[in-house]
Amino acid sequence: MTRFIFITGGVVSSLGKGLAAAALAALLQARGYKVRLRKLDPYINVDPGTMSPYQHGEVYVTDDGAETDLDLGHYERFTGVPSRQSDNVTTGRIYQTVIAKERRGDYLGATVQVIPHITDAIKDFVLAESEGHDFMLIEVGGTVGDIEGLPFFEAIRQLGLDLGRERALYMHLTLVPFIAAAGELKTKPTQHSVKELRSIGIQPDVLLCRSERPIPESDRRKIALFCNVRREAVIQALDVASIYEAPLHYHAEGLDEQVLRGFGIEHAPAPDLGRWRGVTERLHQPEGEVAIAIVGKYTGLKDAYKSLAEALVHGGIANHVRVKLEWLESEAFEQGEHTVHRLEGVHGILVPGGFGERGSEGKIKAVTFARERAVPYFGICFGMQMAVIEAARSLAGIKDASSSEFGPTPHAVVGLMTEWSRGGVAELRNAEGDLGGTMRLGAYEARLLAGSKVAEIYGASAISERHRHRYEVNIAYRPQLEAQGLLFSGLSPDGTLPEIIEIPAHPWFIGVQFHPELKSKPFDPHPLFASFIKAAVHQSRLV
Ligand code: GLN
Repeated sequence: MTRFIFITGGVVSSLGKGLAAAALAALLQARGYKVRLRKLDPYINVDPGTMSPYQHGEVYVTDDGAETDLDLGHYERFTGVPSRQSDNVTTGRIYQTVIAKERRGDYLGATVQVIPHITDAIKDFVLAESEGHDFMLIEVGGTVGDIEGLPFFEAIRQLGLDLGRERALYMHLTLVPFIAAAGELKTKPTQHSVKELRSIGIQPDVLLCRSERPIPESDRRKIALFCNVRREAVIQALDVASIYEAPLHYHAEGLDEQVLRGFGIEHAPAPDLGRWRGVTERLHQPEGEVAIAIVGKYTGLKDAYKSLAEALVHGGIANHVRVKLEWLESEAFEQGEHTVHRLEGVHGILVPGGFGERGSEGKIKAVTFARERAVPYFGICFGMQMAVIEAARSLAGIKDASSSEFGPTPHAVVGLMTEWSRGGVAELRNAEGDLGGTMRLGAYEARLLAGSKVAEIYGASAISERHRHRYEVNIAYRPQLEAQGLLFSGLSPDGTLPEIIEIPAHPWFIGVQFHPELKSKPFDPHPLFASFIKAAVHQSRLV
């Protein structure tokens, strides 16, 4: 029997609903249950693929090539369950489905309405492919009361009735703020938020109350009384130093127990929290620290590189060190030589994924610095492309080497591929095509060169990693670049698309066309990040 947990949020946004959902899923999983997480996003974009990272943070890519909300990254990092296209839906996609059906005439002359047609489409999405799971955790994006969220709230309300009490549970995340002037915590915003939820017919079963200070017993009783929730089901969620402490904290507060109680499950298996204890211990007792510079464009908003920042933390966990991240705006490097000196003293340099010409020359300067000074360099996607341009210009003497992403160039060492193959099937791309969903997206296999550094790091000769890019390193330049010491150590199975480059003569210089950060987990750090941080630890002993 599959049970559904609906997770909503109130009072303010950014309370960490996605993390709370992921941590709860991790706790249920630790008790041996099979879990899957899903996200309902009320915005109108069909997917976040076309949204600016400034607006919405990182776009998280799944194996099956979906561009999804960054919360799906938390889901995977906490449970290890790979997300799929079918785990994230938006208002845009729901309407797209319903309108396509209407055009086909599938509604047989009916007037198509929000209730029941839109709500039915949402319900179909929630229920799809849920068989075989013990718990489906369904997070509703946004805050209760938002106009665009209403159809989603209505759909999950109906599902409560359809599924019955023993198969549906509502968890609401709220904020209990500390008001300095009054010197006390305030429960009123929580009361109002639950009132709002109840006005649309949803009575929460569990309240998870975010607070920066411990919530006194009297306040918990008050919240329970005014919100019509069992006293034990009012759970405090205090701020934690690391997100990976959340499962242990929530467990100590009784979250998983109360959720199970809500379903009437009295004798659940005890959780095995060893995995989370191990991760927390390593985070609390680092044996050193390394500084990594991330030279990028959206460094003002950390969420734009969420998975990357987490994967670096995981690399630290693997090596028992704390990883200090220094976010540097690549554009600043273009304004003068001296700014590059900000890279002096860091133990590793990383150029992450990115789009567009702005800031690219600064990134290339960062590559030159890393290559010449033998500082560990990790180039991811755009960061690999910039490393290849740098090598073409500085080592192979192709002075005007560039990417066709920046406009026409006589030496496109990075260019637009219009055709490639996936498992022997041709896929096409067109320069004038739509921007949404037209990149090389999702999992692709790569073959690793025997004896190369990456083959040693992965301990494998073939790998599968996730992609999200439109341009490719141009294989035609391989002989010229390899003659100068830039090895093409990973290629697509047909040998046409460069997937990995490395400089064997450098202590650690690797560029990858894919996004390894998307698959790293705190309890299973990605080998490339573990190896990069290991090289940074080595570097820190030299400087
Ligand atoms: N802008 C580059 C491309 O489209 C790189 C994309 C990325 O870094 N994700 O190929």
